[in-house]
Amino acid sequence: MLNFLMDVLFPQQACCLCRKEGRYNTRHPWCEECYQSLMSRQGCLPVCDKCGKYLEKGEGLCVDCQQNPPLFFIGRAVGPYDEPYRIAVKVLKFLGRRHLAVKMGHMMAGVVKNEPRFWPIDLVIPVPVSWAHLQQRGFNQTEELARQLCKELNLKMDARILKRIKETPAQRELTREEREKNLLFAFSVKDKKKIYRKNILLVDDVYTTGSTVRECTRTLLEAGAARVSVVTWATGKGF
Ligand SMILES: [Zn+2]
Ligand SMILES: [Zn+2]
Repeated sequence: MLNFLMDVLFPQQACCLCRKEGRYNTRHPWCEECYQSLMSRQGCLPVCDKCGKYLEKGEGLCVDCQQNPPLFFIGRAVGPYDEPYRIAVKVLKFLGRRHLAVKMGHMMAGVVKNEPRFWPIDLVIPVPVSWAHLQQRGFNQTEELARQLCKELNLKMDARILKRIKETPAQRELTREEREKNLLFAFSVKDKKKIYRKNILLVDDVYTTGSTVRECTRTLLEAGAARVSVVTWATGKGF
């Protein structure tokens, strides 16, 4: 309803990805070319069986999962973290186009629906963003994505149960070891009873080094969760 009102009050006159002029709305935020571009990149390369990162060729596990196996059960994404998937994340996050999460969440729901290994799912948890980001943007993009996914797959979301208890400096410039050190004990589970023996689906926007979801997974399993799986909008290359 809110999205419908927003579309009426603020019609979008440019494609959110390439700025091509036209009539766009929450259900159709991008132009046909951008849509085709998004679709054509899905399944363009094989993926790591465990974390879902793209492999150059062949099958099996990426180098990362071979050397440092993640604790989560399975990770999958809609597409590779390059254009136009990267632009969509930037528009959602940095330009604050919250409505974009509707379509992105819809596509993530498709990925979850079609992968039997995700199921059954008891609870969906969005990865908590830092306080600084939340204050800057006023919303948590992972929560918006998770909300849409839950709506479509009829799942329950709890965006309060996993808390960020430690601020971490900007992670982009850091090495993997530094990131992991910073993230250690950065999260905490508020009510352990609610996740005890539950199959959890973690939702994040992008999977790159995987450090954040790895630490969230560790925290959830330690607090009693039975299994944690991960779905993201985009993922990196594992080669
Ligand atoms: Zn476009
Ligand atoms: Zn992998």
